[in-house]
Amino acid sequence: MEYISTRGQVAPLGFIDAILMGLADDGGLLVPKAVPQVDAATLQAWGKLTYAELALEIFTLYIGNEIPREELQRLVEDSYGTFRDVDVTPVRRINNGLYVLELFHGPTFAFKDIALQFLGNLYAYVSKQTNSIIHILGATSGDTGASAIEGVRGKEGIRICILHPSGKVSKVQELQMTTVDDANVLNLAVDGTFDDCQRIIKELFADVAFKHKYHLRAINSINIARILAQTVYYFYAYLQLAQQGQSERMNFSVPTGNFGDIFAGYLAKRMGLPIGKLILATNENNILERFVNEGVYEPGEFRGTHSPSMDIQVASNFERYLYYLYGEDPVQVSRLMGQFTTEGSIVIPSDRMNQVQADFAAYGVKNDECLDTIGNYFAKYDYLLDPHTACGVAASDRLTEEGEVTVALSTAHPAKFDESIRLRGIEQTYPEQIGALFGKAQHQKQVGGSNAEIKAELERFF
Ligand SMILES: *Cc1c(COP(=O)(O)O)cnc(C)c1O
Repeated sequence: MEYISTRGQVAPLGFIDAILMGLADDGGLLVPKAVPQVDAATLQAWGKLTYAELALEIFTLYIGNEIPREELQRLVEDSYGTFRDVDVTPVRRINNGLYVLELFHGPTFAFKDIALQFLGNLYAYVSKQTNSIIHILGATSGDTGASAIEGVRGKEGIRICILHPSGKVSKVQELQMTTVDDANVLNLAVDGTFDDCQRIIKELFADVAFKHKYHLRAINSINIARILAQTVYYFYAYLQLAQQGQSERMNFSVPTGNFGDIFAGYLAKRMGLPIGKLILATNENNILERFVNEGVYEPGEFRGTHSPSMDIQVASNFERYLYYLYGEDPVQVSRLMGQFTTEGSIVIPSDRMNQVQADFAAYGVKNDECLDTIGNYFAKYDYLLDPHTACGVAASDRLTEEGEVTVALSTAHPAKFDESIRLRGIEQTYPEQIGALFGKAQHQKQVGGSNAEIKAELERFF
């Protein structure tokens, strides 16, 4: 299996080199040269696999024999052995038309663990194989940082620096990141928004001299390994429900900001998983909703919401979808992304919009509607949604039609966002791992938002 750039200027790479490159050297994103196909017979044969067994099969399609199967199996088992639920990502029935796919049973109680437990182990494997130090640099709106740190803390051969927007992550998220005292972890609290953090990272990675000097590695969802790991639970949910006799086409409703999680669903569909609608749920930062419904991709005003992990205006994975929308043509993608840089927007012509609207349905959830959804589902079903999941469920309520079945992805445990849950007068008890964070010493450094300042911090740390 080979990987190429959406902008066409990178010679085809193997899986490990693609992981190590992160953002493509030509500024594009890496994608598989050909999307592996899963036929109905294979899908059926996968029906009784455990989560880890299924992950092994899917990863093998993307990795080939670059990692020996026994090694890969060990990596997968180590990664998913840390989850608290035997099913790793269990599916809960809420009513006839709605299931919730719980993706938050990993160490940091958010779905990012599914990809980052694996990526952390993969980096440790690569460090050992190549006998080199891996320097990880990432930006987070809250969950990625905690999860990435948890994936590599204390691991030999790895150092990690995470930028988060100072004061704009939830208390639990901040504690999860900053109470880690392993020497290979550096937290920078940046004076700015998540988009600022993400821009800094993108620019440092685009500084090829700096990137190569420190062998900088990415953990953001621009890393193709994350997307691949996230395709697994679409298959797993489908297979679990199929086993239970669910024969309708299943929609998936996906709370997304960076277009990462929804792109994983799109990829699963391209691989052959018979998905119905892919419902793209956003919050008030609704660039992606406007893209799907109006054909204009243009950042709006930043809004702080109850679902901060989706408070994103520029969706870093969007380019991957553009690539497929434009028939895998890197010339067109380069032209459109160039236009985005110079003009600040991309307008999709109406003939292509038919395809966009065949691929996705979208709905942006307002702050009050998000909280109402949490309140209503708690009252009616005794099921507590976190605010991100509530966006997906609210979008599903809007866009699921009579007789259809939707699986809403639950991307975080509600304990991570207690500030919002309390606004509807709901009291929850923290899982003991979260309660234990309060009162621990925090380690973080406050910094301004200039690239030079961040670079200086990194030079000191690496
Ligand atoms: C990261 C995150 C999302 C959005 O994921 P994308 O990669 O932007 O699709 C949604 N919910 C939670 C809780 C998250 O941490």
